[in-house]
Amino acid sequence: MTSVNWAGNYTYRAESLVKPRSVEELQDVIAGAKQVKALGSRHSFNDVADSPGIQVSLENLPAELTIDEAAHTVTVNAGARYGEFVERLNDAGWAIHNLASLPHISVAGAISTGTHGSGDGNLNLAAVVAGLELITADGLTLSVKRGDPSFEGTVVAVGALGIVTRVTLDIEPTFDVRQDVFVNLGWPALRDHFNELTSSAYSVSMFTDWGEQGANQVWLKSRVDVGTAASQQQELFGATRATHAMHPLPDGPSANSTEQGGVPGPWWNRLAHFTLEFTPSDGQELQSEYLFGREHAIDAIEAMRALQPRLAPHLMVAEIRTMRADDLWLSPAYGRDTVGLHFTWKQDDAVQELLPLMEDALAPFDARPHWGKLFTTNAARLLELYPKLPEFRELAGRLDPNGKFRNPYLDRTIFGA
Ligand SMILES: Cc1cc2nc3c(=O)[nH]c(=O)nc-3n(C[C@H](O)[C@H](O)[C@H](O)COP(=O)(O)OP(=O)(O)OC[C@H]3O[C@@H](n4cnc5c(N)ncnc54)[C@H](O)[C@@H]3O)c2cc1C
Repeated sequence: MTSVNWAGNYTYRAESLVKPRSVEELQDVIAGAKQVKALGSRHSFNDVADSPGIQVSLENLPAELTIDEAAHTVTVNAGARYGEFVERLNDAGWAIHNLASLPHISVAGAISTGTHGSGDGNLNLAAVVAGLELITADGLTLSVKRGDPSFEGTVVAVGALGIVTRVTLDIEPTFDVRQDVFVNLGWPALRDHFNELTSSAYSVSMFTDWGEQGANQVWLKSRVDVGTAASQQQELFGATRATHAMHPLPDGPSANSTEQGGVPGPWWNRLAHFTLEFTPSDGQELQSEYLFGREHAIDAIEAMRALQPRLAPHLMVAEIRTMRADDLWLSPAYGRDTVGLHFTWKQDDAVQELLPLMEDALAPFDARPHWGKLFTTNAARLLELYPKLPEFRELAGRLDPNGKFRNPYLDRTIFGA
């Protein structure tokens, strides 16, 4: 059977897909393989998870959820999707700090690509990894934890160091969140009040098509225990409170969105935009995203507005999010408080031609592409954008001297120049 990614825009070329039922079986597969790579929940839009040899899915490994109350951590199997365990974690009284827009993705897939949610004070999902276990090229288990040498290189690793089997995440006592949507935020207000807007709630997302009207929707996710002042207002810098539930896409079904209208609910049921039971976003789509230091936010937004006539025919929606700087070598937020400009595109060949235009326009801001989405940024440029890339290559050379986990994506990006 032909195997494709979630959006259906990429057909994997791997010779086979293996689903081991135990870690020992996985170790044998890796030790005996010439080329092998992990496949998560297939939500990336490019060939990042492909392999010239074997692809391995962890979906048949036994489930695990071990909470260490003293250490404030939870350990899960790496192939688990967030949506499969967040409710149980909450029922036990605990929370993860943040989620991506969808709970359908696997933990290992998310952390491997530097996946993030939003919030000025919120780190990306990989930056709350306290430790992990991976099977390296020789089939042996390597355990690493925060504080170990090269730990910062091991978490966002784009599958290049081995196959991660268990991940330990920082947790905190559970909290409630309310979600409020405001509509029609004009560009002047967004420009003049950008910092106030992004700090007006625990997590803020602004959706736009780059047209004259500005941000069509602003989603505020506010922690009930911290303060919800902005979310209770009738107006937010001229934007008005939505009168009904919304979907980020203008014609999208609001039933697929997590509850809005200021109704408090558990963190796991508000921090993602989409619920697990439904298709997130559109499905028939492509995505790309570029991330840069937040001091460039307004200039980068203006650069995308200038491209609007070229982008608009192919765009479904764009989203502006923020995140806190981290110290993970290949994280798009490495070393800088970050703003991300995300694009959901129609499934249209023309998108590939738009990417270099956008990358040129964002080059002055040293924009890093999301590893799991579409981009054309080449290896030489990635070397400039990621100061720790040489150290990462050295680490990969030590753990995988024969390039067992390499694939064409890694050869042309991380190892290319
Ligand atoms: C509808 C939609 C919404 C999205 N929203 C967001 C968002 O809000 N924020 C954001 O940042 N991104 C978002 N993304 C992108 C998504 O989070 C990333 O593409 C993520 O990597 C997908 O995880 P996955 O489990 O599908 O991994 P895959 O796409 O299957 O794999 C991604 C990478 O992880 C590696 N990998 C997977 N499992 C393992 C393992 N066990 N060990 C080692 N390496 C492994 C693979 O080899 C590959 O390199 C979205 C994508 C979609 C389709």
